[in-house]
Amino acid sequence: MATLGERLDQIRGRLALAAERAGRPPDSVRLLAVAKGFPAAAVREAMDQGLREFGENRVQEADAKISELGMVGAPGQAGTRPRWHLIGHLQRNKAKRAVSLFDEIHSLDGEDLVAEVGRRAAAEGRVITGYIEVNTSGDPGKHGVAPEGALALLARAGREPAIRLAGLMTIGPLHGGPEGARASFRALARLRDEAVGAGLLESGAGLSMGMSDDFEIAIEEGATIVRVGSALFGTRGAVREAAAG
Ligand SMILES: *Cc1c(COP(=O)(O)O)cnc(C)c1O
Repeated sequence: MATLGERLDQIRGRLALAAERAGRPPDSVRLLAVAKGFPAAAVREAMDQGLREFGENRVQEADAKISELGMVGAPGQAGTRPRWHLIGHLQRNKAKRAVSLFDEIHSLDGEDLVAEVGRRAAAEGRVITGYIEVNTSGDPGKHGVAPEGALALLARAGREPAIRLAGLMTIGPLHGGPEGARASFRALARLRDEAVGAGLLESGAGLSMGMSDDFEIAIEEGATIVRVGSALFGTRGAVREAAAG
């Protein structure tokens, strides 16, 4: 079985090739290591490999992991502390905890949530980096604002001084294969361009898109940050089985 270091090398290689195909420098794409479902030890191992950006999709799991790693304290602190990104759905009643744990929130998807995150971050004296999550695939089970509502939500978030709007985020469709994913990613890039044109995002604003199975397509379509879990850490089911066994 490949080690984490070997898998990381492989991912970096694939990332660089995809960037090259798109005529972009490899360092224009950040690699977010999605640690959900993996223990604190896996994060430590990834940090030993130089990774400093980690994604979690649940506040509670992140809370436990970050304390186990001894990284409680203000996000954004200088030093070796990694940056933590919330990529999963956020309930309003967890916004307070979320702004004290995370540096970036990728899943802002409604006016009430945006208002609450803005209020809680301001109360903590922090500025949270935020992405608006857009449901580009139309999957009814998915979170995210409908594409038609994205610009209005960006405008709303832009009125929160404690939220620094970094761009848009999406999750590719569950079904539809690589070309389905491409259509989603292309739609997100188009929305970003529209938002920049409307003065709602800065030019060059980010696109958080692409996971283990489709990050190369996302890079070809302009991703600035890809969220990679299983290709880096292994299959999550295997970890659970090992833990249970
Ligand atoms: C789990 C998850 C990922 C990573 O998925 P992998 O297929 O393991 O790479 C990326 N983004 C979100 C929102 C996720 O929930």
